[in-house]
Amino acid sequence: MCNMHGKRLSCPPFVPSWRETKEWISFYKKALLYKFSIDMDEFEIEKRKVIEFLLDKEKEFFKEYPFVYALFPGSCNLCLDCPIEKGHECLKPTLVRPALDALGIEVTSITDVDFSESVLYSLVFLE
Ligand code: SF4
Repeated sequence: MCNMHGKRLSCPPFVPSWRETKEWISFYKKALLYKFSIDMDEFEIEKRKVIEFLLDKEKEFFKEYPFVYALFPGSCNLCLDCPIEKGHECLKPTLVRPALDALGIEVTSITDVDFSESVLYSLVFLE
């Protein structure tokens, strides 16, 4: 089991199952796949920047695609000190989106992945 299980709102058991995800995704006709080059030495900072970028993209697309929905490239790290694993509530629940892999989405089934690259992937669904 992933070591973030139960520790972020973006991760199981707080996200839909892969079956629910499959049904939900079938509603969307388009999605953008984003690939971000990151500095692995600054992983948490870089991932936070990516997450903020994706939330900004949602806002940008909202007018044209009112059901736009971004997925995070991994566990949520919007806050410097996440209180969930200490048994407290999420500080920004309206901003958290599920992590791509938490929903059972395999990036390798969408694109060729070079595992030697320092990158993060994410999807933004448009409808
Ligand atoms: S928004 Fe903050 S409190 Fe909520 S899951 Fe993300 S890091 Fe934790």
